[in-house]
Amino acid sequence: MQLILMGLPGAGKGTQAEEINEKYGIPHISTGDMFRLAIKEGTPLGKQAQGYMDEGALVPDEVTNGIVEERLSKDDCAKGYLLDGFPRTIPQAEALDKITTKLDRQLDYVIHVDVPEEKLLERLTGRRVCSTCGSSYHITYNPPKVEGVCDKDGGVLTQRDDDTAETVQKRLTVNIEQAKPLLDFYKEKGILITIDGDQPIDKVFTDIQAKLDNEV
Ligand SMILES: [Zn+2]
Repeated sequence: MQLILMGLPGAGKGTQAEEINEKYGIPHISTGDMFRLAIKEGTPLGKQAQGYMDEGALVPDEVTNGIVEERLSKDDCAKGYLLDGFPRTIPQAEALDKITTKLDRQLDYVIHVDVPEEKLLERLTGRRVCSTCGSSYHITYNPPKVEGVCDKDGGVLTQRDDDTAETVQKRLTVNIEQAKPLLDFYKEKGILITIDGDQPIDKVFTDIQAKLDNEV
């Protein structure tokens, strides 16, 4: 089963990816992992990517697409794969079509874990971190026993700069704008599965599973 997993920051993609990996035995391939592997293996493309990253430059599509092709042609993708974080743009999506056709590993479905923007804001801005031990809490979903105080060591809980409403909102807006054309692209192809991600984690996975098992 060849899949892409899409979802905004805070939508719980990581957890769902683990579940899908376990249930269907297909590798979870995130963009970061793909780059790390190519660099570790020292492939020509990995070396090129490293060069750009060392300069703090964006890795050009031709290198990224090449790394994707290398990764998807590996043996562990024979039964399928779950791509996460790629493609990010329409040209990348078109390149992926060519790659998967060439490898005869065409996409079956694109799973979109859909969570309303205001829910994501709540999830992402509610995080608090202990300034002493680094333990993580959430004011709604995983609150400490005493507000603002770490359960383990009494340390003060603070909000990281990344988690402030303004920063989170900016990040979400950028991601929403980036995802929109891709979602349309795959919807038009008839392979987009939209899952209600505003539910308990287990229920989200049950829904994904039901869709995949019925439709594949
Ligand atoms: Zn602590």
